[in-house]
Amino acid sequence: MNNRTEKREMKIAIIGGGAAGMMAAATLLEEVVDAEIHLFEKNNVLGKKVSISGGGRCNVTTGINDKNILLSKYTRGSKFLIPAFGLFPPDKVFKWFEEQGIPLKIKNDLRVFPKSDNGKDVVKLFEDLFKNKIKVHLDLSIESIEPTEKGFTLTTKNGKDCFGIVVITSGGNAYRHTGSTGDGYDFAKSCKHSITKLGPSLNSFEVKEDWCKELAGISLENAKLITNTNKEKTSAVGPFLFTHFGISGPVTFAFSSNTAFEKIDKKCPLKIGLIPNAEYNFNSLDKLLQNLIAENGAKQIINIISELTTRRLAEEILKISKINKDKKSAEIKKEERNEISHLLSGKLELNLIARRSGDEFVTAGGVDLNEVNRKTMESKILPNLYFAGEVLDIDGLTGGFNLQSAWATGRLAGTSIARKLKIEN
Ligand SMILES: Cc1cc2nc3c(=O)[nH]c(=O)nc-3n(C[C@H](O)[C@H](O)[C@H](O)COP(=O)(O)OP(=O)(O)OC[C@H]3O[C@@H](n4cnc5c(N)ncnc54)[C@H](O)[C@@H]3O)c2cc1C
Repeated sequence: MNNRTEKREMKIAIIGGGAAGMMAAATLLEEVVDAEIHLFEKNNVLGKKVSISGGGRCNVTTGINDKNILLSKYTRGSKFLIPAFGLFPPDKVFKWFEEQGIPLKIKNDLRVFPKSDNGKDVVKLFEDLFKNKIKVHLDLSIESIEPTEKGFTLTTKNGKDCFGIVVITSGGNAYRHTGSTGDGYDFAKSCKHSITKLGPSLNSFEVKEDWCKELAGISLENAKLITNTNKEKTSAVGPFLFTHFGISGPVTFAFSSNTAFEKIDKKCPLKIGLIPNAEYNFNSLDKLLQNLIAENGAKQIINIISELTTRRLAEEILKISKINKDKKSAEIKKEERNEISHLLSGKLELNLIARRSGDEFVTAGGVDLNEVNRKTMESKILPNLYFAGEVLDIDGLTGGFNLQSAWATGRLAGTSIARKLKIEN
């Protein structure tokens, strides 16, 4: 027998051909591992969610490279991500895609997109890389995974097959029609892993207040949302949008991420305060309003308030405070002015009655990070089992951060497997 045949035959299974799975497979290819690589995808195409991400434009990563600022964008999992981001930070992700023939651009807000504005180009690059090199099994769902003495037995509609190494990259539970239906949580449990509490994140909300829905389409550049409960205060700052059902926009998504596990329904609404301009606080605003009124006594109060926020919202604020919008500002009493200042600085209350069902972008919670080695992505419970991507208890804000963590953890899993195989051989 020569050396080659003496070696243990190695087959690697990657479960899920999304961002993390495709990056893990591409990395194994780059590392030229001496193993058969099988990528299983239940859809008839790879990267369905990647293709539609960013409204089809695919916000691939972020232009933020400052480690602390970057990590602050992750509501869960930031510490765990440190080694993965050490290996594959946003600027290396940027370089990698450009080297693969996908020119990228950075927007003013530091989101990164393909210059083509087409997420399908990102997926095509992986398809081209894999041709004749990786066994891509499309339309083939992994039904179960069973750890054995030699590795893992995977079951599909075609029967059972054994693999020495398995990488679970089957995503979370959000946008289920893209194939991410939470199967990975069951696979992890079959391998004795724990799953933390799961919840939707990066979602819009339905609200009780009709006036809010009447403002549908109106946006606020830099709003702040705060919880108005006695519990620990939560807040978020950023662009805001009124919709026909309630509220949306980046600040709402960030707020939903911070409140992913709060119970919210009609019977138990979450009371929040909307501050139309995050810079406002009662004292500075009341002083400003006092000056504006003093200088413009003949002006109608609606015209004064419209200088502080959008006219439609200004009208609502006057309605809520029961002040005639046509009243001359010189006629506004101190108590009325105070009320307006309060409404513009946190007292404008909204009752969130539901998370907009099915429109969340990511799942909060997942495979317990305490049970995974963050330096390798290998299970601390079962050797040769790896995890990457959203199946883990990691989620970030909008702005390219979720794909960034999927690419980076997929890359780290691929690199670690390659290193392990090289040492074994
Ligand atoms: C509408 C939308 C827009 C988004 N836009 C952005 C954005 O612009 N930027 C950003 O950073 N993030 C964005 N995200 C989030 C981001 O897309 C995800 O966090 C990221 O794709 C997760 O990557 P993943 O590889 O872990 O999982 P996924 O991309 O979800 O991939 C998992 C794959 O596993 C497959 N699979 C599942 N179970 C099985 C099984 N049993 N057998 C075989 N295959 C299986 C699924 O079909 C799926 O293809 C968006 C999300 C949504 C829903």
